[in-house]
Amino acid sequence: MRRRVLIAGLFHETHTFLTERTPWSAFSVRRGNEFFAARGDGSPLAGVLEIADERGWDVIPTIDARATPSGTVEDNTFEQFWSELRPAAESALQQGIAGIYLVLHGAMATETISDPEGELARRLRALARGDEVSIGGVLDLHGNISREFAEATQAFVAYRKNPHTDACEAARDGARLLDRVMTSDRWPVTLHAAPGIVWPPTGVSTQDEPMRVLEELARDIERTHPDIAVVNVFASYSFADTPDTGVSFTAVTFGDPAEARHALQSLCDEATRRREQGNVVPLSLDSVLPAIQAEVARGETPVLIVEPSDNIGGGAPGDLTHVFRALVANQIGNSAVVINDPIAVAKLRSKPIGWIGSLTFGGRSDPRFDSPVTYEVELLSTSDGQFTLEDRHSHLASMCGVQIDMGPCAVVKHAGIRVLLTSRKTPPFDLGQLRSQGIIPESLSVIGVKAAVAHRQAYDPITKHSHTVNTLGPCTSDLRSLPFEQIRRPIFPLDRS
Ligand SMILES: [Zn+2]
Repeated sequence: MRRRVLIAGLFHETHTFLTERTPWSAFSVRRGNEFFAARGDGSPLAGVLEIADERGWDVIPTIDARATPSGTVEDNTFEQFWSELRPAAESALQQGIAGIYLVLHGAMATETISDPEGELARRLRALARGDEVSIGGVLDLHGNISREFAEATQAFVAYRKNPHTDACEAARDGARLLDRVMTSDRWPVTLHAAPGIVWPPTGVSTQDEPMRVLEELARDIERTHPDIAVVNVFASYSFADTPDTGVSFTAVTFGDPAEARHALQSLCDEATRRREQGNVVPLSLDSVLPAIQAEVARGETPVLIVEPSDNIGGGAPGDLTHVFRALVANQIGNSAVVINDPIAVAKLRSKPIGWIGSLTFGGRSDPRFDSPVTYEVELLSTSDGQFTLEDRHSHLASMCGVQIDMGPCAVVKHAGIRVLLTSRKTPPFDLGQLRSQGIIPESLSVIGVKAAVAHRQAYDPITKHSHTVNTLGPCTSDLRSLPFEQIRRPIFPLDRS
């Protein structure tokens, strides 16, 4: 029998320490049959549609809303989303559905709803009125997952890799699991456990400890316990200050809940043993510059300067000038940085290529962290900022698909340092970002990258040395310096015992 499955998506990683608010207009929204345009684009939505076709589901596409990471989401955004989803869900439920598949992030927060994903699951569960409608889908590894969310759902699978090169694969696994739940005569339960830890983004690459070993342990548990369908490891998103912020684990089991609970406890114990390993606070920019100069002098290039405090993928503005100014001060030419500044791009619009003059750019977003700089620059090029990902399985594909829009762009040069000015902040997760604008990354001495770890899939293969530095910015890795209020205490590293 063909199974009817409702699909919806709500995807945002919310940085609650930013002063900005994220309105409904910041979300790109697909409705109804627009879902099917995602087919084959490498996104999680493409992943679920692929399995839906394979398993012969009758798909009911409803609404998918997504925005890049940014400040606290306005309450009416969530209600707008719900006002569109609710009638679609009610009519689908009336006609009968077997499952609901949700494409979620897991670290969203609105002005008054600290756990919108949990609220969404709760409202959908209430609409379904105890009917055996399974709720499943896919979640980001950075989700701050609540017990309430976990217990209201049956079939969620989280990304297992950071950088998220497996987002589409995880979405496919989530769809396979939902299919298994819908066709099984057993009803699974989802268990949740949290060890009281929060880690900065710099500490949660799955290529390094502690995440590498935690993911390995989770796979071991899945292999050795046939009743446990999936074990998810959530590294947490430290810049969303909510009661549920922190590392957590979930397990979906068709068997004895006690067995799954025991398995989750072993993950909590391992995370606690390794909690210092995940609390990675980098060195200052000034302290690594001598090493960078020596590497450049030896021709061991490109050298990467990674600036997680302005991590665009983590919600930062992408306009801080710290690295650019350090390159100028230390006369490190043949280098490049990307700075988001639509005002500067607009100023350059009327200028001819080759124009030389004084330009003020960057540092506009928040006076607590930076202020604009003014330098004499040469205008090298302008563009509409469109490019296609070179790596269709990149972290960026998981968020945006393969066609990227940086808005109108300009490339300027000062003292051999190229600055790609963008109008829409764009995470540096694909080499096509620079190459599409005439900057050949492999030929540079130094590249400034506003990221934590998700740039590595793109940049590691071409990089000789990489230095992650601590600068002043909203995505600092020093969590103890942030004014947490909502997070459940005690929690490491805010409360060290
Ligand atoms: Zn993530």
